[in-house]
Parts: sequence; structure tokens; C-alpha cells
Amino acid sequence: MKKNAPRLDFSEAPLKNRAFSEKPMSFIDEEPKTFLSAIIDMIAIETGNRIAREHWQHKQLQNLLEHAGRRSAFWRERIGAKKIKGISLSDLPILTRSDVVKQVEIEGSLLPSDTIATSKHATSGSSGTPVQFFVSEMNQRYNPLRSVAQYFMEGRDLTLNSTTFKPSFRKRTEGGFVVERTTGWLGPLNSLLKGGTGKRISYGRPNRDLLFKELMKDPIGYLVIQPSLIESLFHNGNISFLRENGTEMFIPTGEEADRDLRDKFLAARIPVRANYSSEEVGCIAVECKDCPENFHVAQSNVIVEVDNRDCVVVGSNTLGRVLVTHLHSYATPFVRYDIGDFAILSTGCGCGHDGPVLSNIYGRKKRLIKHSDGNVSRFGLTARHILQIVKCDEYRIRQTTLDTIEVEIGGIDQLNADEIAALKSLLKERAGDEFQIHINAVRNINWGNNAKRLAFHSEVS
Ligand SMILES: [Zn+2]
Repeated sequence: MKKNAPRLDFSEAPLKNRAFSEKPMSFIDEEPKTFLSAIIDMIAIETGNRIAREHWQHKQLQNLLEHAGRRSAFWRERIGAKKIKGISLSDLPILTRSDVVKQVEIEGSLLPSDTIATSKHATSGSSGTPVQFFVSEMNQRYNPLRSVAQYFMEGRDLTLNSTTFKPSFRKRTEGGFVVERTTGWLGPLNSLLKGGTGKRISYGRPNRDLLFKELMKDPIGYLVIQPSLIESLFHNGNISFLRENGTEMFIPTGEEADRDLRDKFLAARIPVRANYSSEEVGCIAVECKDCPENFHVAQSNVIVEVDNRDCVVVGSNTLGRVLVTHLHSYATPFVRYDIGDFAILSTGCGCGHDGPVLSNIYGRKKRLIKHSDGNVSRFGLTARHILQIVKCDEYRIRQTTLDTIEVEIGGIDQLNADEIAALKSLLKERAGDEFQIHINAVRNINWGNNAKRLAFHSEVS
């Protein structure tokens, strides 16, 4: 029998004994209610009827373009004489990283400061062209919400712990990491539900023994982590430590988890569920629970196109350029933004989901540096750190031998002694003291056929 109502049922929700409001004429307190209702919004849009969803997206795109056209000469010129009411995405030009740099430099944030708070961010992605941009408070609220919504969409166990790793070099400690514990990871829903505890670990170059000691203190639960960190911690390939310490799901983030690593987790009976996101736009797509390596596009946040005019061939697959339109990017609009990745876009998923799906996402290479003692470690360096020292258009860092790193800083003629010293010490801090660092200023970096323009790669095999 066809069911014409979604089943909203809390019989399996781990409600707290005092979950509900004790105030007169209320049911759920304001804060958890607002959060819960926003989660229902997202689930309704992303799992509901496709026509309704796409109509909503179309209207949101119009709203964004009207705003951008009103507040920005840059965007007025791109929109030109086209009528926004009848506009489709393909009428607009592709937005490159350098377009964004130009718009932000000339016009700053497009949201007036008395409307909604904005803050400045920079890409920490793998691309060699750094981008600074503005995000609104709404964007910052959306991302944690979308992350929790995924647990509800899949019916994942909310009582498990969550252990999230975040690269950061700001705090220097003996172990090379800082632990921050929370009583729950469900945000405002912590007052309603008995969720697991949350642990956030910011790390630079962590000491393996001390980090393992920390991980043994509590069951790990959902493990949100960069694949390169897993590989540097378990370079012998044996991840049984994670299973023994209660890892229930591996959620790779920031980079792709390659087949080998996925197989190791599957052999340890730990499911893998990757996120595809970026600093600029937040969540782009989430891996399907039934069809591994297929990603449902987060349509409450973005419209994704794949431009096949400019493609790369990887194995037997032809992949097109991923263009992302962030529907809520009112501070710095990202419309048809070339995010620097390649993929295949399909109109539906094998699991039955009626929405766009990305597969064969290519370009999120792991950043591993190789050491002469045979170890590998994660190379964490963001565009922000380079830009704090020198204002450049692009940069490239290459490990050329076991003890040499070559750095090219693009778009400038000369670096002064202070800049060179600061760059050297930054590189040594991130890579290790044993490296010789060579730094060169160049007008244009010769990327050759490196379409991805990776900011860092190791040529040592
Ligand atoms: Zn699916």
C-alpha cells in the first residue's frame, strides 16, 4: 500500500527523562525546538518530492542573484541584460578562484553589517590558488545542522560517541594535539536526547603514543578524520586499534579515502561514510549508505553541475569539472564556482534516491610527506598561513627528495629576507627540521598539465 504520510515517530529516540518543557503551554523548549525544526526543513527538502525541491532551489537562486545584482557591480556585469526571473545557471559564466579573489578585494562582503553578521575566511583546501571570502552567520549555523540531519536521515545510533579530528597548528602542546570534550555532539538537541559524548581533537603533528592513550579513554564511536592522518598513525596498515577502541563508523573528511584504506576499514567491519565539502560552501554531498562511493548532493545547500567541456580521464572514466552554486552565499556569492575537483554527475542513485549523485570524485588527494626513516606524516599547511607572510596569487610546495622541499611563490618578483626566513621556519615546523627548504619567487608557476594545481605534492615514491 502506498503511504502518503511520512512517519515521524519518536519511539526509538533516546529521549531524556526530562526532555520536554516544564513551562506552561509549551512542549519542547525553544532552543531544541528551533534546531529540530531546522533539521525537519532539511530532511523535507532533501528527501521530498523532486519537483518541489527543484522549484525551491530555483527560487533561492533567483533570490541570491537579485541580491548580488543589487549590491555588486561585479555581479551586475556577469548577469548582464538577462532577466533574473527566467535565468538558468548555464546562462551565467563560470566563476573561477581568481574571479572570487577580485570580487572580494574590490567589494568586500555583500551583506551590510547591520543585517546579519559576517566573518572572513580563507580556503585551506589543497589548491595552490588561495581564496579569501566572507560567510554569514546563517552559513555557520547551517553546517553543524546539516551534519546532525544526516544522522536522522539514516537512522544512525545517536547514543554513540563522536570523535572529530581537526588540523590546527595554533596551540602547541607536548603531544601535538588539544582535546576538547563536550557532554554531547547533538548541539541544542543535547537537552532533549541522551546522545553520546563529543570529543574534538585539534592536532598539528601528534605524538602517536600520547594520542593513542587519549583515544583509549572513551569508546571512539563516529570517527571523523582526515585519511592522511589515519595513514600516518597506522603506517603498518593495521587499524585493529580503532575497532578495539569502539570505532563504529569512519567518516573521512577533507580528502579522499582511497580504495586500500576503505578496504581496511571494511575488513575491520567499520562502515565508511565520506563527506564531500569545502571551506567555501560547506556541505556539497554525502556518501550513500547503500551505494558506497556515490554521494547524494546536499540540495538544501548547493546546486551542482559538471562541465564536461573540460574533462580529465582517470582510468576508464571521463570526469568533468565540478561547478558549485551555494544557495545561501549572500556575503560572497559562489555561483557556478569551479571548486577544482572533477567527478561524474548522475540524475539518481542505485538506492532509489531521486536526486543528483556525484561519483568518482577526483582531486582530493591526501597530503602526505615522506621521511627518511620510512615514516609518513600529514602535511598540514593552509593558504592562510602563507598569506599571513606574503601576499601572493598562487603557491606550490613540492617534496622533491627525502630531505628537500621546493617552494614557489607566484605573482611576485622578489621576496625579502624576512619573508624568506618566516616561510622557511613555517615549512620546517610543518614538515620537520630535517628538511632543506628552497624558496623561490616566480611570476607564473608552471603547472604543466597539473589541472588540479595541487598546492602540495610529494614527488618521492
Ligand atoms: Zn544512494
